[in-house]
Amino acid sequence: MLEVTGLTARYGQAQALHGVDLRVGEGEVVTLAGRNGAGKTTLLRCLIGLHRQTGGRVEFRGRDLDGVPAHRRARAGLGWVPDDRGIYAGLTVEENLLLPPVVSERAWPLERVYETFPALAERRRAPGTTLSGGEQQMLALARVLRTGARLLLLDEPSEGLAPVIVARIGAIIREVKATGAGVLLVEQNVTFAATVADRHYLLSQGRIVEGDLLEHLGL
Ligand code: ATP
Repeated sequence: MLEVTGLTARYGQAQALHGVDLRVGEGEVVTLAGRNGAGKTTLLRCLIGLHRQTGGRVEFRGRDLDGVPAHRRARAGLGWVPDDRGIYAGLTVEENLLLPPVVSERAWPLERVYETFPALAERRRAPGTTLSGGEQQMLALARVLRTGARLLLLDEPSEGLAPVIVARIGAIIREVKATGAGVLLVEQNVTFAATVADRHYLLSQGRIVEGDLLEHLGL
């Protein structure tokens, strides 16, 4: 579904990605780990069209995405949960959930979102600004599920969440996988990653490297 070959990107003169090769198949959950500054967020931003690639190729469902703007990538089925969650502060929880376009038959109806995340149902009329960090993470994930994205790009969805919520997110990822969608998960929580993922990539200084994940992360 996603084929990335030789992807390069930079910030000014500083090279951030040095030729990344990576793939995610249908119904596959793949994690991307690496130390702070390794380039994980930059890679996701290139995939979603918010950071310009300087070389290489990103192919999604057989189509080269070079030059395709972010909103068209979203329509094609790339769903992104950013590390800052990207909640619209001036909108209520429900307005945040109603905003995204539906891109496939996998899209979750609002009722299913509220059944799965009762905390969001309780706070449906609350402005985005008043949510706790954990609630914002749930809302960001719920928002991408609402679209029915074919490939979910999740930037540390478990960060700062209580174990019970992390387990719930794991269950949701497995559900998404069962529908044939793919998931690329930036994740430093190796226990969580091991329970949900089919394969792992390790990114170091802008390159995919072989190696022991725990050792690399200093765990
Ligand atoms: P973290 O886990 O800390 O989010 P990361 O693996 O996601 O790290 P990136 O945020 O992609 O790493 O950063 C990759 C490299 O690009 C780092 O050297 C970082 O300093 C640099 N970088 C990131 N954002 C910018 C920016 N806006 N301007 C300049 N350099 C940047």
